[in-house]
Amino acid sequence: MELVVLGNQSPYPGPGGACSGYLVRGEGSVLLDCGSGSLANLARHLPLWQLDAVVLSHLHGDHYADLLVLRYAIQTARAKGWRPGPLPVYGPPEPFSVWDTLPYKDNLVLHPWQPGQTLDLIGLHWQCQEARHSILALSVAVTDGRKRLVYSGDTAYHPGLVELAGGADLLLTEATLQEEDAAAALAQGHLTARQAGRLAKESGAKRVLLTHLWAGYDPARTLAEAESEVAELAVLNGRYVL
Ligand SMILES: [Zn+2]
Repeated sequence: MELVVLGNQSPYPGPGGACSGYLVRGEGSVLLDCGSGSLANLARHLPLWQLDAVVLSHLHGDHYADLLVLRYAIQTARAKGWRPGPLPVYGPPEPFSVWDTLPYKDNLVLHPWQPGQTLDLIGLHWQCQEARHSILALSVAVTDGRKRLVYSGDTAYHPGLVELAGGADLLLTEATLQEEDAAAALAQGHLTARQAGRLAKESGAKRVLLTHLWAGYDPARTLAEAESEVAELAVLNGRYVL
């Protein structure tokens, strides 16, 4: 299993940056979240139409906006004969007013994915649990039977998240806010960098990757605040083989 960070910013990208998007590779390729700018980075790794599926943690624009153009890439590839079928998309079907706008002709096939349901995609087993966020949102765990990747999605801190992340080989966790804005974290359904560090410590995750960072912050400070809870936290970007 492999994870490639395509975008790690929120709720909008900074110069040259991109919002949440993660390429997960097993016996194929799944795009986990599809935020603004992530597709341009995905195209460095594979032709967009070769994706096997998209999995969305929730329907906020910084996690799904590029799906609105990915569907054109699928349409074009099918017209050219490069891809036979539509692209399956899995995610929470709320708010329905957003979910309902995602398809374009017959190029995407939407599959509601609800808390507690599992998926088997690209030779990997996918689990999810409900996050603590302002809309229905998922935290996701993926395994190949040997290694385990856990993605917090967007969520406030809660005991179930620690349990889901328990012993993860790679924990990909949001670390949205720095201490100066910590009061907003719970109200907005997000983690501070320090809480992300606490999650890393309490879950015993072997490796930690911080994401969903506001471009207006100094990332070195985000890392330092997280590392005040646990030493040697990982970095903010890159490619990871599990
Ligand atoms: Zn977000």
